[in-house]
Amino acid sequence: MTTAVYPGSFDPCTNGHLDIIKRASKMFDKLIVAVLDNPEKKTPLFSVEERVEILKNITKDMDNIEIMSFSGLLVDFMKKQNSKVIVRGLRAVTDFEYEFQLALTNQKIGAGIETIFLSTTAEFMFLSSSTVKEVAKYGGDLSGMVTEEVAEKLKNRFSK
Ligand code: ADP
Repeated sequence: MTTAVYPGSFDPCTNGHLDIIKRASKMFDKLIVAVLDNPEKKTPLFSVEERVEILKNITKDMDNIEIMSFSGLLVDFMKKQNSKVIVRGLRAVTDFEYEFQLALTNQKIGAGIETIFLSTTAEFMFLSSSTVKEVAKYGGDLSGMVTEEVAEKLKNRFSK
């Protein structure tokens, strides 16, 4: 059985993330979406528990997906989950350098761990969690960018 791990901040999950989740889940027996709980990274808008819950709701009808959170090194988490494949998404050249650096680091410190990249679907090319938060902050229309549940959560968060 091949298990792959799709790690990220998912703050919050966008339709671009969801597209990668759907496509990757068809390629492996099991896909673990691993939400990074990293207190050193700048404070997220949603807590790790909220991000996990959002992803669980979004993927509730997909049966080979598990949502988990992790902290520390991704390769240590992968070892515990018995997985050797990392899935990441690539939007534009701007993603490349960071993603390549990350992949090479994980290759060096995680024996036998491989990273595979799925290219974005064209309509999600410019979609990121940061963009979505920026649009939500100023009350813009989020349709097509996130699910209705996420749009609602963003609206509530910024109306406080
Ligand atoms: P991180 O903080 O680890 O970069 P993100 O949640 O921002 O976490 O992204 C997780 C992964 O999903 C990254 O590989 C990122 O490039 C990819 N990703 C984010 N948005 C999109 C999108 N619109 N299309 C394809 N891949 C995406």
